Amino acid sequence: ITLCDGPTCIHKRSKELEAAIETELTRHELTGRVSVNLSGCLGMCAQGPVMAINPQYTVYGNVTADDIPEIVSSHILKKKPVARLAIDEDHLYNRFFRVFGDINFFGKQMRIVLRNCGIIDPENIDDYLSVRGYEALAKVLTDMKPADVIAQVKTSGLRGRGGAGFPTGIKWELAARQKTDEKFLICNADEGDPGAFMDRSTIEGDPHTVLEGMIIGAYAVGASKGFVYIRAEYPLAIKRLEKAIADARRECFLGKNILGSDFSFDIEIRLGAGAFVCGEETALIHSIEGHRGMPRPRPPYPSVQGLFDKPTLINNVETWANIPVIILDGAEWFSSIGTEKSKGTKVFALAGKIKNTGLIEVPMGVTLRSIIYDIGGGIPNNKKFKALQTGGPSGGCLSEDYLDTKIDYESLAAAGSIMGSGGMIVMDEDSCMVNIARFFLEFTQNESCGKCTPCREGTKRMLEILTRITEGKGQEGDIERLERLGNLIKKASLCGLGQSAPNPVLSTIKNFRSEYEEHIKQKK
Ligand code: SF4
Repeated sequence: ITLCDGPTCIHKRSKELEAAIETELTRHELTGRVSVNLSGCLGMCAQGPVMAINPQYTVYGNVTADDIPEIVSSHILKKKPVARLAIDEDHLYNRFFRVFGDINFFGKQMRIVLRNCGIIDPENIDDYLSVRGYEALAKVLTDMKPADVIAQVKTSGLRGRGGAGFPTGIKWELAARQKTDEKFLICNADEGDPGAFMDRSTIEGDPHTVLEGMIIGAYAVGASKGFVYIRAEYPLAIKRLEKAIADARRECFLGKNILGSDFSFDIEIRLGAGAFVCGEETALIHSIEGHRGMPRPRPPYPSVQGLFDKPTLINNVETWANIPVIILDGAEWFSSIGTEKSKGTKVFALAGKIKNTGLIEVPMGVTLRSIIYDIGGGIPNNKKFKALQTGGPSGGCLSEDYLDTKIDYESLAAAGSIMGSGGMIVMDEDSCMVNIARFFLEFTQNESCGKCTPCREGTKRMLEILTRITEGKGQEGDIERLERLGNLIKKASLCGLGQSAPNPVLSTIKNFRSEYEEHIKQKK
C-alpha cells in the first residue's frame, strides 16, 4: 500500500488513514506481509487523500478512515479492487478509480520528471535504486567521457525548465570550456510563483533524481561543489533532500571518489528567505555568497563567471530531474518527444477554477484545451472558462481564443504569455480580469528588488493606476498610460522580473479590454 505523504494529502488527513490501515492489517494478521509505504505527491491533489494498492495498481481517492476496512478485506484479501462508486456530489469524480490509462487525468500525461513521484518512498534510497536509480550515474562514470555527456544533453534538445528555455547542452558546454581551478554547480529550487509547486513536489517525491542529475552535470563540466538553493518555506522538501544527500554520501554516490572513480563532488543545501527575485540566477548567486539578492547585468554569464567569480552551472529542479532519463533512455528517444524546438515534457501546477487541481506532466505540443478539459476535467460548477494564466505572476492571461495554442516556448510567447517555470492558473466567468491583473502586479511590485528605475518606479505607477481603476476612480487615458508604461518597463528593466512584470496587465488589456473600459465607465 502506498499512501501519499504530500502536503495536500497530509492536510486532508492522510495520517488518519495511516493509523486505520495499521489497525486493519493487524486485525487481519497481515502485518509484515503487506507493507505500507509513504510516497511523494501523485499529482491528484483534488482527490486527496490518495492511496495506491499494488499489485493491480489501483489508486483510491477521497479515501476516509471508514473506507479502509472494505479496501483491506476486498482488495488486499480477495484481490478485488473496490469498484463501488460514491453518489456524492461533493466529489468531483467517482470516489474510487483506476489510473494510468483508465482516466483522462493520467491518460494524457507523460511522466518523465515525475516518473517516480507517488510510486517510491522518497526517504528510502533502496526504493530509488529499485527503479534504476543511480544507474545513469554509473553508466556515465564507467562508459562516458564528460564531452560525451554534454553531446547527449545537446542532442536531447532539453531546454532550461526554469523559464527562459535556454538550451541546456549549450550552457553545459560553455561551463565545461572554462579553464579554472574550481567550478560550482547550483540547483535552483527557489520556486516563488504564487500557485506553483512543481519543484517542491519533485523534490518531495523523488529527491535522488535531482541529486543524480546534478552529479552527472558536475562530472560533465568538472565541478567539485554543488548547492541546492531552496526556499525555507519548503520544510518537507528540505527534510527529504537532507536525508537523500546523507544517504547518497553513505552509498558513495556523493563525496570523494564517487563509485570508486577519481571524480569527487559534494552538495550543500542553502536556504532562501522567500524573495521572489532570488529565482533570477545572478540574484540567487549573490544570495548564496551572503549578499543581498539582487540581479546584476549579464554577460558575464554564470557559466563563465558565477558563484565566488568561478564558472557556475545553474539549472532548475526540473531540468536536473530530466538528466538521468536522457542518459539511460537516450537523447534520440527524448528528442522524439515534443515539438520541433521544444523537446521532452513539461510539469505544470494546475490551480484556480479547475476541477482537477494538482500536478501534471505533459509532452510538449499538447494544447491548452487538452490540459484544461481532458486532464483538468474542465471548470467546476458548470461555469464557463474565461482565462488561463501561464508562467506565474509574470505570465500573460490568455482568453478562450488561445485554447488551441500548443505548449511550447515559442507558441506561448507568440500568444502573449510565457512558459515560465510551470504555474497554470485557470479563471472562470466570475473572475474580474482587472482585479486579477492588479493582484499579480501587486505581487511583482512588492518583489521588485529596487535596483533599477523602470521596474522600481514604473511598476509602482502602474499599480497606482490599476488600483484607482478597480476602485472606480479610473480616468480617461488610463488604459493607454498602462500600455505605454508597461511596454517601457519591459524594454528597460535589468532582469526578467521587471521585463515580464507588466505581462498580466498588457495581456488582459489586449484580451479583455472591455472589462477595463467598463470599470472606467462606472466611475464613482
Ligand atoms: Fe530589481 Fe526589478 Fe531591476 Fe530586476 S528589473 S533588477 S527586480 S528593480
